[in-house]
Amino acid sequence: MAETDHLNVLNSTQLIVQKALAKLGYPDEMYELFKEPMRMLTVRIPVRMDDGKVKVFTGYRAQHNDAVGPTKGGVRFHPDVTEDEVKALSIWMSLKCGIVNLPYGGGKGGIICDPREMSFGELERLSRGYVRAISQLVGPTKDIPAPDVMTNSQIMAWMLDEYSRIREFDSPGFITGKPIVLGGSQGRETATAKGVTLMIDQALQKRNIPLKEAKIAIQGFGNAGSYLAKMMHEAGAKVVAISDVYGALYDENGLDIEYLLDRRDSFGTVTKLFKNTLTNKELLELPCDILVPAAIENQITHENAERIQASIVVEAANGPTTIEATRILTERGILLVPDVLASSGGVVVSYFEWVQNNQGFYWTEEEVHSRLHEVLVNAFESVYTVHTTRRVDMRLAAYMVGVRKMAEAARFRGWI
Ligand code: NAD
Repeated sequence: MAETDHLNVLNSTQLIVQKALAKLGYPDEMYELFKEPMRMLTVRIPVRMDDGKVKVFTGYRAQHNDAVGPTKGGVRFHPDVTEDEVKALSIWMSLKCGIVNLPYGGGKGGIICDPREMSFGELERLSRGYVRAISQLVGPTKDIPAPDVMTNSQIMAWMLDEYSRIREFDSPGFITGKPIVLGGSQGRETATAKGVTLMIDQALQKRNIPLKEAKIAIQGFGNAGSYLAKMMHEAGAKVVAISDVYGALYDENGLDIEYLLDRRDSFGTVTKLFKNTLTNKELLELPCDILVPAAIENQITHENAERIQASIVVEAANGPTTIEATRILTERGILLVPDVLASSGGVVVSYFEWVQNNQGFYWTEEEVHSRLHEVLVNAFESVYTVHTTRRVDMRLAAYMVGVRKMAEAARFRGWI
C-alpha cells in the first residue's frame, strides 16, 4: 500500500495545503490557520416524519476562512456525510474560490440523511430545520450555501423561504442554485459540465489534439457526467464510454449519447438496460484521449494509475485520484486537470447568481457563458504556468494558486 493511501480526505487535503504554503514561502503559522475551518457548527435537527414520529438528524456547517470575503459552498444530503468530509470540502471551496479569483472564502454544509428514502414533505421540513439551526451563522454577506450531492433547486427554494421568514425580508443572495423564478441564474444547472468542457478544450490545446478527433471516456452519468457527455458529443468529440454505479458501456466508434440521455433515470443510471457491460474499473483503463472521472472519490489509485491509457485526465468529481496516483500519472506525462480547478464552473456561476441578486439585474445565458469562459481560461493558464515554471504537478500547482490569495488577505489583515 502506498504511504499516503491511508489518509482520509481531510488529511490528504491538509498535506497538499501544507506543501503549497511551504513552496510559496509562507511561515508554519499560515498552515496552522488554514489546516482546519475557522468555524465549525454541528446541529441537531428534529423532523416530524410522515409516520408521526420525530427523527433527529445531524448536520454541519463549516466556514473555512473569511479573510478574502464571505464563505461559500454547497450543502450535501448523504448518509455517509462526516465532520471530516465537510471540513475537507470547505477547504476545497476556499481553494476553488482562490483559483478562479472570486471574492469568497470556502464553506460547506452537510446533513447525515438519505433523501432517496424520504418523502417530499420530510425533505422540506429537514431543509427548513437546517436553516433555522444555522441561521445565526449564515447570510448574503457572511456565508452563502448552494446545492451539492443530492440537493437541488427545490431544496434551495425551501431554504431561501425559511431564511427570508426568519429575517423578515426578501434575501435572494442568501443562497445560490435557486430556481430561476426566485432569482436563480441562467446556466447554473449546467455550469459544472460547461466548466469541464472548457478545461478539456484547454488541455487538448496543450497536447495538440483536435477536439473532433478526441475520444473521451466518462465515469458517472449523473448531473456532471451526463451534461458533459451531451456537450462533448455536440461539440463533435467521440464519447466512447460512460458508466453509472452498476457498470460501464463502451463503443470505440462512439456511443449514442442522445439515446442514453433519454433512457437515464433521475439518479443517473442507465447501464442496467444493457447486457455485457464493462465494470467501472475497466472503463478507467480503456483506450481514449481524455478520461473524466465524474462519479466518486478514490477511483485512480497506485493500483491502476500505471494502466491508464488516456493522455489527459480531467477530474470532474471531487477527489477521484489519490496522491500516489497523481505522482504516477504526472511521471508518465499524463496531463491531469485537478478537481479544484476542473469542477470550479459551478461556484463561478453561483458567484454570478449572487452578483445578479445583489444588483437586481439579470443576465442572459450567453452573458453567463462568455464570463464563465473568461474566468476559467484565465484560471487554467495560471495553474498551468505554475505547473511548468515551478515544475510541480498540476494538483500542487492548483493548490499554490488557490491558497495564495487567502494567505495574502490574511497577511494584509494582520492575522499572520
Ligand atoms: P450525481 O449523483 O448526479 O451522479 C453520480 C453518478 O455517478 C451517477 O451516474 C451514479 O450512478 C454514478 N456512481 C455512483 N456511485 C458510483 C460508483 N461507486 N462507481 C461508479 N459510478 C458511480 O452526482 P454529480 O452531481 O454528477 O456529481 C458527481 C461528482 O462530481 C461528485 O464527486 C461531485 O462532488 C462532483 N461535482 C459535481 C458538481 C455538480 O455541479 N453536479 C460540482 C462540482 C463537483
